Amino acid sequence: MGSDRFDVLREQVRGQVIDEGDAEYDTARTVFNGMIDRRPAAVLRVSQVADVMAAVRFARGLKIDVAIRGGGHSAPGFGTVDGGLVLDFSALRGVRVDPGARTARVEPGATWADYNHATHAFGLASTGGIIGSTGVTGLTLGGGIGYLCRKYGLACDNLVSADVVLADGSFVTASEAENVDLFWALRGGSGNFGAVTSMEFRLHPVDMVHVGIIFFDAADGVEVGRAYREWIAAEPEEMGAFLGFHQGPPVPFLPEEWHGRPVAVIAGMWTGDVDAGPRHWQPMLDAGPALGSFFAPMPYPGLNIMFDGLSGVPGLQGYWKADFLKALSDDVLRTAVGFSPGIPTVHSANHFYPIDGAVQRVAPEATAFAYRNVNFAPAIAGQWPDASDNAANIAWVRDYWAALHQYSEPGGYINFQDADDQSRIEDTLGSNYARLAELKAKYDPDNFFHINQNIKPAVPAGAASGIETRTPTEREARPAEARQNQGTPKSNPAEGASTT
Ligand SMILES: Cc1cc2nc3c(=O)[nH]c(=O)nc-3n(C[C@H](O)[C@H](O)[C@H](O)COP(=O)(O)OP(=O)(O)OC[C@H]3O[C@@H](n4cnc5c(N)ncnc54)[C@H](O)[C@@H]3O)c2cc1C
Repeated sequence: MGSDRFDVLREQVRGQVIDEGDAEYDTARTVFNGMIDRRPAAVLRVSQVADVMAAVRFARGLKIDVAIRGGGHSAPGFGTVDGGLVLDFSALRGVRVDPGARTARVEPGATWADYNHATHAFGLASTGGIIGSTGVTGLTLGGGIGYLCRKYGLACDNLVSADVVLADGSFVTASEAENVDLFWALRGGSGNFGAVTSMEFRLHPVDMVHVGIIFFDAADGVEVGRAYREWIAAEPEEMGAFLGFHQGPPVPFLPEEWHGRPVAVIAGMWTGDVDAGPRHWQPMLDAGPALGSFFAPMPYPGLNIMFDGLSGVPGLQGYWKADFLKALSDDVLRTAVGFSPGIPTVHSANHFYPIDGAVQRVAPEATAFAYRNVNFAPAIAGQWPDASDNAANIAWVRDYWAALHQYSEPGGYINFQDADDQSRIEDTLGSNYARLAELKAKYDPDNFFHINQNIKPAVPAGAASGIETRTPTEREARPAEARQNQGTPKSNPAEGASTT
């Protein structure tokens, strides 16, 4: 089929439809992870909800895959697809704050930098990611971990309502008042239930924060980690800070001889009385011989974009893995220290995020995000510039994860996982998986939205299913001649690989 099949779609939408014939095609098909090199049949730069409704019906008619892209940060590159249609929301980044009601209405392409900029004007914020360029919608649908978690819960815990275009092209709003089961599924079930065209969040007073960053020799990581786990558990929920292992970044407050060498880091912010910040950070300064440190009051959005030049660099090769930990045990810390010399580059991060406090005050069955009885979410985020290093660096991430996983719960945070974690989906969604599969069968019975960490629709006992429930990764296992609309072969060596 030629690209003119998309002329029908062009007549039905206001947004731009970009296909291989367009000069912008290569830009339009690109996502954050440089390892992803897929060739969609077309990219629709969505301009309004009506475009999404038309595009879903159109893609159904053509029987082509649909990928949804917000901020484009998905490590497995779920924001694009070979041979299919991409719904690219990047042109819709508006944020409307209602300061009286303390809510924000967000368009689906907004990033956390967009969001924080808009809400900070009113001295308000809610939990978002630690990097400014990550998408609000994609992060929230998976749960959403960030500095404000301990005080205000996950990003999804602050969701008030969402507008959604369902798999049949119809439009609904989900909230505690309507489509309650869909609203439940959207808070942790990732992009499985429809194309979200707007989200409304509850905001909280967060203005100036006291930022702290402290570097230690990674070799001291066990002692530092012990001090951190005691300190963070005892600190009020106004303290949001993670333990990390990095290559020393080229920042002025870390001596040059430590740039590129393995370091342990404590980083985050105190959101209570700014003047009290130094007192709250002091115990971590005393935790060992610090190599360097930075403390300063700053507006919350300033911290949100502070690490964008390190971890938020588009075009790097990327491969991620995740776990959930009840405890930051000595075994976990020894494992982290043992693997720290192999951290691929200064862009890579191994973080242990605390998810206690307000996250745990929500019951595991209250939203789709089930792992609320754990205390830490580790992310092993490998990022590097050179594709010729892929095999070695992917191996480092996998080996480290394999060593760490014995201390973990079965699942890991869905948003920190890569394509080859699809086999973990039941563990990842834990005690809520069965209900999510039932809701998938209700809202998307033929698995139209499957370019994601995919929840397969539950099949009623005894019923034979004729529907396509395989993810693209699974379909890749078929002989090439059996595939249609797949474009060039995938170049992501992480896909289709087994990790178990
Ligand atoms: C540098 C970096 C930093 C990160 N930091 C954090 C962090 O601090 N905390 C955290 O929790 N996570 C973090 N993540 C992980 C992040 O939550 C996921 O990558 C998330 O999927 C990103 O959302 P996105 O909109 O940017 O990505 P996209 O690639 O655009 O979307 C990812 C997937 O989300 C779903 N999705 C996105 N938009 C919609 C929509 N409008 N409707 C329906 N489904 C949609 C789709 O399944 C889509 O394929 C980070 C990732 C990176 C690369």
